Amino acid sequence: MNVLIVVAHPEPRSLNGALARFSVSHLQRLGHQVRVSDLYAMNWEARLSPADTQHRQHVERFTPSLESTQAFEGGFQSEDIQQEQEKLLWADAVILQFPLWWFSMPAILKGWIDRVYACGFAYGVGEHSDTHWGDRYGEGTLAGKRAMLVVTMGGWASHYSPRGINGHIDDILFPIQHGILFYPGFDVLPPFTVYRTGRIDSVRFDALCQELSKRLDNLFITAPVGYYRQNGGDYALPELTLRDDLAAGEQGHRIHIRQG
Ligand code: FAD
Repeated sequence: MNVLIVVAHPEPRSLNGALARFSVSHLQRLGHQVRVSDLYAMNWEARLSPADTQHRQHVERFTPSLESTQAFEGGFQSEDIQQEQEKLLWADAVILQFPLWWFSMPAILKGWIDRVYACGFAYGVGEHSDTHWGDRYGEGTLAGKRAMLVVTMGGWASHYSPRGINGHIDDILFPIQHGILFYPGFDVLPPFTVYRTGRIDSVRFDALCQELSKRLDNLFITAPVGYYRQNGGDYALPELTLRDDLAAGEQGHRIHIRQG
């Protein structure tokens, strides 16, 4: 199978760099084809801008989604965007490897999403009407592919537990898991999380690699997170609110995950 690893860390000798290298070699040992987008090494341009299209259509005012649609459909997106889209289409699974920075992904990775997830590619796909808000949340260009986060954090696991001071890790990662990965169609696997990174020595690093290797061994068989699909009849139309009989009386991110 084909696996794309997108790495966002400025230092190759970092923990994130080491975990990414471990994943590459382990996946290759398993017989997979692996490609890496090392965003800092690539000097990735994180800013979505008029330079993303090779032929500006509306020079008087830049409208990101409009220019993005026209560049995508017309085949004149900038080359770096096209290359990353091709990698996504090639991949059967995508791993995003990053440190948690200010409760989210590093800006360079967010900028990769902003630019590579073009209109017509990752959003704005399929019919748009009051009864069908596009092919998204379980459908779309990247449907049938798998995605997994490998995230490192300075905080302790308890800080990210259901009553932890930082908020539950499932809530913190929800915008990425659901909003960035499930949205364009990925089957999203539970994240691989590394806490308390300030306390890692070679013994703990080896243990982490052992744990990660199990997740990589099972990359194509692990059950994805059971998000409800937008167009599966679970959301009332046209409001797109979860049906009243599902997760009755509850609210918050977790209601969008099928329980049991
Ligand atoms: P490194 O600093 O490279 O390494 C961490 C430890 O692992 C070190 O002790 C190192 O010696 C060891 N190590 C590295 N490689 C190996 C190896 N090959 N073998 C053995 N040991 C190794 N944390 C939060 O919890 N929440 C936040 O919101 C948050 N925001 C942040 C914002 C910013 C801007 C920054 C800079 C940090 C933030 N942090 C936050 C902390 C951050 O998440 C961690 O510093 C990061 O995850 C550590 O990953 P790293 O790759 O940079 O680790």
